[in-house]
Amino acid sequence: MRTVYLETFGCQMNELDSELVRGHLESLGYRFTEDPAAASILLYNTCSVRELAENKAYSRLGLAGVRKKKGEELLVGVLGCMAERDGVDMLRRHPQVDLLCGPGELDKLPNLIDNATRTAAISGFNRGEVDGRVALAGNTSRRSAALSASEDDLESLDLARAFDPEQSAGKARSAYVRITRGCNKFCTYCVVPYTRGAEVHRPPDGIIEECRRLAEAGVLEVTLLGQTVNHYRYTHGIAVTVDGVERPQVGPGLKAFRNEVIDDPATTTFARLLSRIHDEVPELARIRFLTSYPRDFGDDVLDAMATRPRICRYLHLPVQSGSNRILKLMNRGYTVEEYLDFVDRVLEKLPDACIAGDLIVGFPTETDEDFEETRTLMQRVPFKNNFIFKYSPRPGTVAIDRFPDDVPDEVKRARNNDLLALQAEVGARVHASWVGRETEVLVERITERSSAPAVSAADGRIRLGSGLSVSPGPNAATPTRPVQVSGRTPGDLITVFDAPDRSTAESLIGSIVRVRIEGSGPLLLRGVSV
Ligand code: SF4
Repeated sequence: MRTVYLETFGCQMNELDSELVRGHLESLGYRFTEDPAAASILLYNTCSVRELAENKAYSRLGLAGVRKKKGEELLVGVLGCMAERDGVDMLRRHPQVDLLCGPGELDKLPNLIDNATRTAAISGFNRGEVDGRVALAGNTSRRSAALSASEDDLESLDLARAFDPEQSAGKARSAYVRITRGCNKFCTYCVVPYTRGAEVHRPPDGIIEECRRLAEAGVLEVTLLGQTVNHYRYTHGIAVTVDGVERPQVGPGLKAFRNEVIDDPATTTFARLLSRIHDEVPELARIRFLTSYPRDFGDDVLDAMATRPRICRYLHLPVQSGSNRILKLMNRGYTVEEYLDFVDRVLEKLPDACIAGDLIVGFPTETDEDFEETRTLMQRVPFKNNFIFKYSPRPGTVAIDRFPDDVPDEVKRARNNDLLALQAEVGARVHASWVGRETEVLVERITERSSAPAVSAADGRIRLGSGLSVSPGPNAATPTRPVQVSGRTPGDLITVFDAPDRSTAESLIGSIVRVRIEGSGPLLLRGVSV
């Protein structure tokens, strides 16, 4: 039996891809290990959006190369965005790589592994030439035709998933469900439209079926995934069907979106999809979605969120910059005013909604004035958190060819630190506004931080958590210590509270606990269970 080590870099989409790859390979008899030294197949599911993730993947490939040079019979595969972007170049520069598989070809991975194994058996595991490996590369073309979308075998990979809550991160009963793949936006700094191809939308019945199966397997929370998740739209009248079952469909052009509400019953919009999942899979306690594109967000989605309590009031709304000039260079397709208008609409319809953002500092030509505008925007929007990145030119993007990377690194670093400090202030205000309220927390894990001592030095009483305490009797055994657990509210606010002891804490993981919030910081809430 062959043992696989699979490491994932990058976004939630990659995490989901890895989960599906793992399930597929396990169903074919492959075994998985957490220890790369114990594996004969090393797979790296890569990300080319951030330089850091890419460098980590290269360093893993370097280590694999050393092992191969020492004579180990290892098969090394690069999956995901780097495989799609670099193609043959990757094989040339890294002779230790045996196979490449882009994100659109993951259903074919078992065949690629099979072919690579046969090739290695004939020509050895440590050969240097590219020939013989090129044929193992995935499809690097952008999927554009309706037919190629309808023939998309990735749909079967999504549908065939075998979710095991015991294997999921933190054993929390949470799972990702992909609803769209690819992106049509072409932001100038981003490689995703080239590596993941055009937007393809899964048929709603398949998505709902997947949610239902996950709920039956014990999942409480699903996160619907798409690069621009609110672009989800499936038009039934024109759908290609196979044996009466609808197939994935290429999305309409960008002009079809904007904020209009569609009444046509033959179209499943994002709002309708959310409502259907909510109404047809009542076992799901939470329905989330990631990542929203700030422009094309109709009020119908906000209304669905306002009227269906199990759709979480959380929006990840990357703004990227507070300067209209920079937004234009980024080709983001909206202005600061449009972004703020949307935030106002959200907070009007969903006053307790939580908003997270993404920001890039040091985009080419960003001046002090542009940066100041970003600071102003940050002070205006109640961001619970912001993912802040220093711009770095990424191979395969428009920006790397069009704009010189002219903001010095020390300026980028200073702006990055400045925004982190500002976000800490904004985040502290957002979190403080929850103190005194009660909310529900889906418990994910036991924290590493040690909890307060069980016996208070001040009064000698044993703290039981939840505000309760008792006096130790004369023959009292050594008291157990409270154990801190961490989870998330429906608005995705990280919340910690104490369980009376370790076994209670362990039993809480994966359950929803009502918590009263008693304190807060820039990044989290502290509470007691009620
Ligand atoms: S919306 Fe822009 S940043 Fe997001 S995946 Fe598409 S091109 Fe990349």
